[in-house]
Amino acid sequence: MDRIASFSVDHDRLEKGMYISRVDGDVVTYDIRMKKPNGGDYLGYAELHTFEHLFATYARNSIYRDSVVYVGPMGCRTGFYLLLRDTVSGGEAIDLVRQSFSFISAFEGEIPGAKRQECGNWQEHDLAGARRTASDMLTVLENWNTEKLAY
Ligand SMILES: [Zn+2]
Repeated sequence: MDRIASFSVDHDRLEKGMYISRVDGDVVTYDIRMKKPNGGDYLGYAELHTFEHLFATYARNSIYRDSVVYVGPMGCRTGFYLLLRDTVSGGEAIDLVRQSFSFISAFEGEIPGAKRQECGNWQEHDLAGARRTASDMLTVLENWNTEKLAY
């Protein structure tokens, strides 16, 4: 079988940030890298889960809601994939991610979709952890721009 594109990126050179992973027709996959690959520090399972609930909730309620195809964590626990229709520009995508992370970093109260009937592992959540990672990524993405989206 062919090696897929995301495995062809040199993970030893990859730093925290936001990148265009691939483009399939009108769908752009963004690689939002929150931890340095193989750096020994990974998103916790519970933190990753809470982050997913909040990130998806924000993105799917944003002005770009109709262009959001998918939001989900990487199995290696070093980041998230965000799939958007190409009607959203790179600059707007960065903006959406910054807004989402700002929302997560300040979130208080009941985690959306985390009731037993709504979620596959409703007790595995870590809001404090998700907030910490969101704050850290806001610093990383503070001066991010479309040129930096290329790996
Ligand atoms: Zn869940």
